[in-house]
Amino acid sequence: MKIFTLSEFERSVTAALKGYDNEAPREAQRNIEYLVDTVMDPLREALGTPVIITSGYRCRDLNRDVGGSPTSQHLMGLAADFRPLHDDDRERVEAWFRRDDAPPFDQLIIYPTFFHVGLRPEGSTNRRQILRYNAFGQGYRKD
Ligand SMILES: [Zn+2]
Repeated sequence: MKIFTLSEFERSVTAALKGYDNEAPREAQRNIEYLVDTVMDPLREALGTPVIITSGYRCRDLNRDVGGSPTSQHLMGLAADFRPLHDDDRERVEAWFRRDDAPPFDQLIIYPTFFHVGLRPEGSTNRRQILRYNAFGQGYRKD
């Protein structure tokens, strides 16, 4: 954890409003560190400009309230929704994940206003799948 901090992954307006304790338990903290060391810090360093985590760790109540999948990797601290500070950098984010030497990641989902990245638990094989949310249709289009 060189650049991102744990609190950036626990912070949630929804959790605060609802009074949920969204502190990551020990195992989720280790997963967040793994996600940051593997993907988020290297991405931040490559971009050279701030990356804002819009949803990191989610306790069960928070995940339900935001409509997350019951098996969401956010529950384990293995996923982050984020956006570059400057929208102009969205293409650079996508290009970084498409590099041959990109770090392991399981899925990158490109939404119109943010990205979701998820990792499988440490030691598992990741798919490096990139999906684009189709704002005009019913879900995702595989690139
Ligand atoms: Zn997500």
